[in-house]
This record gives sequence, C-alpha cells and structure tokens, in this order.
Amino acid sequence: MRLFVALPLPEAVTAPLVRLAEAAPLGRAVAEENLHLTLAFLGEVGQSALPALDGALSTVCAPPVCLSFHEVAALGGRQARVVALTARGPEALYKRIVSALRLAGFALPRRRFRAHVTLLRLPRRLEPGQEQRLARFLARLGTPPIGPVSIDRFTLYASQLHPDGARYEPLAEYALR
Ligand code: ATP
Ligand code: MG
Repeated sequence: MRLFVALPLPEAVTAPLVRLAEAAPLGRAVAEENLHLTLAFLGEVGQSALPALDGALSTVCAPPVCLSFHEVAALGGRQARVVALTARGPEALYKRIVSALRLAGFALPRRRFRAHVTLLRLPRRLEPGQEQRLARFLARLGTPPIGPVSIDRFTLYASQLHPDGARYEPLAEYALR
C-alpha cells in the first residue's frame, strides 16, 4: 500500500480553498475531499508492517495544531508542478511523527518540511502566456483570508494512484490533545 500521514482539513478551510483553486486560469484543481496537509510520506508499505506503523503513530503525543495559512505559491522549483497554500503550525507535530516513525524503522525521504496544501496540479510545461496569467493570479490572491484553524487529529491515509488523480482512503486517526 502507498501510505502517507496528513492533517485532515475542516470544511471551513476546504470549501474556500476549492473555490479558489477552481478560479485559477489553468491547472487541475484538487478535489475538495482530497485537500490535506502531508506530514510524512511513507511510500509503499506492506500489510504486515501496519501494526508496527499504527503502534508508532499511537505513541505520538502532541496538542492540537493551530494551523495558519500564508501565501498561495507555485512550488516545485523552476518548473513548478503544483500551486499550493503554504502553512505554519505543524512543525513540532511533524518532528514527533518523523521521530516515532524512524524509531520504529520506517524510512522517510530526507526532505526539508514545508507545510503546504496542494491546490492545483499544473501542466507539465507552461506556455509563456500561461506563466504570466498564473503569476498574475497568484499576485492577486496575496494571503487568502482563510484560517487560522485548530486541528485535533492526524490521519494515516492509503493513496491509490489513478490516471485521473490519486484517491485517498483514511485508514486510522490519531487524536491530538
Ligand atoms: P499524484 O502523484 O498522482 O499527483 P498525489 O501526489 O496526490 O497524486 P501521492 O503521490 O500518493 O498522491 O502522494 C500522497 C501525498 O504524499 C501527497 O500530499 C504528496 O504530495 C505527498 N508525497 C508524495 N511523494 C512524496 C515524497 N517523496 N516526499 C514527500 N511527500 C510526498
Ligand atoms: Mg504524488
């Protein structure tokens, strides 16, 4: 199974975000039910490792996350692949989850953590005109008036990749208090 750990987002956040994404001049908006903030990407994990994974995530003890949002930006380097809303708040929880997973023997990609919610997937290559329209759209958005919001759990998801976009299935939830 392809697994990842993420913060689920309440409708008070996903509803305005999906409207914002659908107003973009290009790209494919992420479906509202798929909006999330990834904390740890596990990749392929066998069924037999699920109890150890659940055990590790159950040891994570942390208060609810106060999530605030910053800017809508194109991410992925020079050839941006997605448009995302950057966020602050889950850094301490991220560290606890990563330590618990590594301690239990799960390998995680060594990437800098940049909390974000992916809103749009961009085409592989942008025409010059599209690039400008996207830049104007992002500049106009500034900091959208969404959040801050308190999140009181995190979720283990299974991801199934499909040509028309991934589908996520929540497998387990862990309370933050
Ligand atoms: P698709 O890959 O079809 O565009 P997706 O990225 O939404 O769809 P997954 O690739 O299964 O679906 O990823 C699930 C979540 O994990 C997403 O939030 C994705 O950004 C994140 N993710 C995927 N690969 C990595 C990775 N190598 N490092 C960190 N996060 C990752
Ligand atoms: Mg992916």
